Amino acid sequence: MISTESTSLKDDLYLAVNGRWLRTAVIPGDYPRVGTFPNLFFDVEKNLRNDLNDFMSGNETIQNKVILQAVKLYDMALGLRGSTVIKNDLEKINNMHNLKDLNNKLKFYFKNDFPLPLIAEVHGNMKDNSQKAFYVAGAKLILPDKSYYDADNSTGKQLLRRYSQAAKDLLIKLGYNTTFTSQTVELALRFDRRLLPIVKSPKGWADYPKIYNPISFVDFGKKSNYIDLQSMTRSLIDDEPKQIIIGEPRYFNHLNELINDDTFDEVKAWMLVSFLMKNADLIDEPSRQIISQYRNELLGINGVEKREKYACRLTTSLFSEPIGIYYGKKYFGEDAKKNVHGMVKKIINTYKKRLMKNEWLSEDTRKNAILKLDKMVVKVGYPEKIDPLYDRFIINNEETLYENVRRLRGIEVQNMFEQYHRPFDRSKWNMSGYEVNASYNPSTNDITFPAAILQRPFYDLKQTVSQNYGGIGSVIAHEISHAFDNNGANFDELGNMKNWWTQRDYKRFQSLTQKMIDQFDGISYMGRKVNGALVVNENIADVGGLACALEVAKSEPNFNCKVFFVNWALNWRIKSTKQINEMLLSVDVHSPAPLRCNIIAQDMDDLYKAFDIKKTDGMWLDKTQRLNIW
Ligand SMILES: [Zn+2]
Repeated sequence: MISTESTSLKDDLYLAVNGRWLRTAVIPGDYPRVGTFPNLFFDVEKNLRNDLNDFMSGNETIQNKVILQAVKLYDMALGLRGSTVIKNDLEKINNMHNLKDLNNKLKFYFKNDFPLPLIAEVHGNMKDNSQKAFYVAGAKLILPDKSYYDADNSTGKQLLRRYSQAAKDLLIKLGYNTTFTSQTVELALRFDRRLLPIVKSPKGWADYPKIYNPISFVDFGKKSNYIDLQSMTRSLIDDEPKQIIIGEPRYFNHLNELINDDTFDEVKAWMLVSFLMKNADLIDEPSRQIISQYRNELLGINGVEKREKYACRLTTSLFSEPIGIYYGKKYFGEDAKKNVHGMVKKIINTYKKRLMKNEWLSEDTRKNAILKLDKMVVKVGYPEKIDPLYDRFIINNEETLYENVRRLRGIEVQNMFEQYHRPFDRSKWNMSGYEVNASYNPSTNDITFPAAILQRPFYDLKQTVSQNYGGIGSVIAHEISHAFDNNGANFDELGNMKNWWTQRDYKRFQSLTQKMIDQFDGISYMGRKVNGALVVNENIADVGGLACALEVAKSEPNFNCKVFFVNWALNWRIKSTKQINEMLLSVDVHSPAPLRCNIIAQDMDDLYKAFDIKKTDGMWLDKTQRLNIW
């Protein structure tokens, strides 16, 4: 447990800033976290709910035709009429008799967002983003990570029990008999067990170059004796690609053991149960309550979110881009947009200067790194235009919520496959304007700062410059640093995976990366240990980002170093359930917030001067152990 004793800034920056808050903060019943990021998100959602309610009641007029459809969906989700129409879809799975049936229906299942034991997606080709590529991966485990299946993991066992119970309750409620119900759930869990030794770990997925495993179309076809992988591919993209990119080679090397005539019943049961669990919230209110029991156990909470919150989250997730644009336009002004753009420009320039002063890069590599900064695309607030995809999102009042949502999800999947023949659109955002988050995309070399994160305590025109740089400044520089983290270092200025390093420089980078892994690896947190390799990219970005934000802030008039670090510590204020902490330690590429806050700050020499930290103080770290790659 995090100690909530009040303490000195010299001993524990995180606790000194957040200790008092931690003592009294209450985790809400329907959400597993409270703190700076989640609280902002709660406020954003509250605004959106109020606006949707105003639109619905006619207090506000709806100007935009896509928002009109979103409001119709919100209305429908609020006053849900229950229906058992989901049974028609469950029966589409249940009526399969053999693998031939599965092969015949693969296209239908894919294009209508049914769960399948393999995933197929179209994205830009990681090595040449002017081209699209067909990517395949394996199915996901029921529980968040392999570690939950360890013999001594009681949380995992309890979760699977809860999952099974929820699935059984839902099937019974839909009128299936008890024999069918228990057999189906048991077979589904058996298939989940089969996945266990062959799926990729979160650490594996965090290593981008290893996701890229091209294979010829002919060889891809040979990966299964039972699934017609070539016909499947052709049917989805109306084309025969020269190569397929496999995300999980081990999974596809074991495909014959996983899907064959003997395992067919398990595959079918797994599809049926997965489909049901994914869509149960759309059936009716009692079903949403049942599915919440599993979710609550997973997240360590005990309340079900109110219908209004649920309706809002469902609507915003489906109409994420248009609602993000709406949010940004209404709540984030043009002045702020200009000001943030100015901050980003300043930070990029300082980053450039730091690269020029860098002592371990050769001239050739340095030139390429600076080119990455020059070509970096900056996205602030919200996108300029709504994707034409949303013109196809028409809500039909004659249909149930289930039918509408399922149809929209199907359109989304079909749109993704259609992209195979469409040109690459660099202006597309990968985040919505209402998200309290920020990102760097190595495949486009762009940084994104949605409107929702551009508010207090991260940013405000009325905050001091020191506060803004300790807040959003460190976030901006963090995202820029991702261009040069362990993944970003493999992508060039156009976002293509290409080596732009001299051999000697890359070796040096790898040894610095290893030091970064070691700095966090094995640290005890909440009774578990941090996996240094899982979190290394984020730590590289954190430390490079904070150092750069600090340098820019120092050049501003009236800079106050204490205020800068206090605001940095405020960014990471968080209180979470035990369950969410356990889950994040297994799957999250970010280090736990209190560790991010303190250790990254300890890597900065300025911290010691600002707070007069001595060897005997808790925040002291020997100069030789302070790290920074960028
Ligand atoms: Zn990051």
